[in-house]
Amino acid sequence: MGNIDPFVEGFKRFQRQLYGDNERLAAKLKKGQNPQTLIIGCCDSRVDPALLMDCAPGDIFTVRNVANLVPPYESDDAFHGVSAALEYAVCTLKVKDIIILGHSSCGGIEGLLSATEGEMVGEFIGRWVDIASAARERALQRIASGSQEELSCLCEQEAVLTSLANLHTFPWLKQRVDAGELHLHGWYFHIETGRLFGYCTEKGRFEVLVDGYTPFIS
Ligand SMILES: [Zn+2]
Repeated sequence: MGNIDPFVEGFKRFQRQLYGDNERLAAKLKKGQNPQTLIIGCCDSRVDPALLMDCAPGDIFTVRNVANLVPPYESDDAFHGVSAALEYAVCTLKVKDIIILGHSSCGGIEGLLSATEGEMVGEFIGRWVDIASAARERALQRIASGSQEELSCLCEQEAVLTSLANLHTFPWLKQRVDAGELHLHGWYFHIETGRLFGYCTEKGRFEVLVDGYTPFIS
């Protein structure tokens, strides 16, 4: 077994902060949750949405899966974990914003790109990331002669757009978007430079939301 002691100590610090130093927040959370935003992020250990956005408990409702994907709406007997979370966030919590948070050097997208015709990665991963197969095709078409890094970056961003498009296939979600009650956002965190990008629908491209870190010099 690895060393899990740091997590127990970490929980103690969290407990002290919330129940000791921040009684008002603790009292609020005991009554229930009322997050206004759903973030769909990747399982990657470097991109925890709550840490990245410096959120407090209760701020965001979060779904994380391999490559931050949203599957299309499907009405069958299969187990639909992401769809169930979407339904709860949209229909019960009535969140006002949904952010798909993609990121660079994503292992899931790497698996999608390395999959050859009819041969998928792993027992479950390949089938899952195949949700973004259209993103893979678009990226390959757009970047015929780029580096592997450029291709990955483009495919990661295209996959965010595929997930955004798939959100619209959920009828109760689309209804709220059409009514102007729910807003969808595609974000992309570039780990290597620390920059955060947001998809601009009007311009049809990702644009810098937060530039790379510049140390403050006094
Ligand atoms: Zn990832």
